[in-house]
Amino acid sequence: MRIVNAPVSLRNDGQLWVYFLGCGSAFSKRHHQTNVLIVKGDDHLLVDCGTTCSGSLSLGGLSILDIRNIMVTHSHADHVGGLEELILMNRYVTRSKPRIFITRTYQKILWNQSIRGGAEYNERHDGVGLRFEDYFEVVRPRRKPNAPREGSAFDVGGIHVRTFRTRHYPEQATTWQDAMYTIGFVIDERVVFSGDTQFDADMLPEIEPAGGAEAIFHDTQFFPGGIHASLDQISTLPESYRSRMHLVHYGDNFDDKRGQIADNGFAGLTEEQRIYEFPPE
Ligand SMILES: [Zn+2]
Ligand SMILES: [Zn+2]
Repeated sequence: MRIVNAPVSLRNDGQLWVYFLGCGSAFSKRHHQTNVLIVKGDDHLLVDCGTTCSGSLSLGGLSILDIRNIMVTHSHADHVGGLEELILMNRYVTRSKPRIFITRTYQKILWNQSIRGGAEYNERHDGVGLRFEDYFEVVRPRRKPNAPREGSAFDVGGIHVRTFRTRHYPEQATTWQDAMYTIGFVIDERVVFSGDTQFDADMLPEIEPAGGAEAIFHDTQFFPGGIHASLDQISTLPESYRSRMHLVHYGDNFDDKRGQIADNGFAGLTEEQRIYEFPPE
């Protein structure tokens, strides 16, 4: 893996690119929110579309209308707050539908609890408003029935994605089953992204038992409690994980933590607007 400081695009020569539009926490003022663009060959996938998403895309020379494939990890606004712009721009500017990879369960949650208020009554036909499917081309991922924790899989052209549930919120949730729907994912069995999660010592051994991922992007926060894995907690993970872990979704006081991050053997802090490039296999 190498970090490339060059403009991103939605096509490349077959490398796997993981491009963080942002690396900040939900409320960061120094970074954009942690939304990710994955590119390989002619294929791309946007993971999450928070309130800062279209601005961070334009910094990278892209428009929200360029995005044709999307996945959403969970319903916090740093991950879904930009979806209304995405769907309204598509419906009323280009009259098109982006493709969304989403389970039936999460589609209901996302529509009824987040998108619907600004989307349903933009039109009325025979007394009926618009539906989720009027805005998106829906693709159902395949279930992974034998996985140690609930998840699914799908392919966007040559990009393979495998998802898994995480224990993110509420703070009181003691297991992923008990938590609100939130997912992390693995790309091409090479790159793990924790998504948003509290510290969960079982997660990495369950979803990556062979330990073969080349990089693990893991969310972190610099204080105890709350709904993300704290730096102190993930510092207790074995060195075999820490040495591959790039920390992401972090707060604005990261400069104070650089020493601790280096001393504890992490791969480092993820930087936004950089291409993490994995060579073709
Ligand atoms: Zn978040
Ligand atoms: Zn969250």
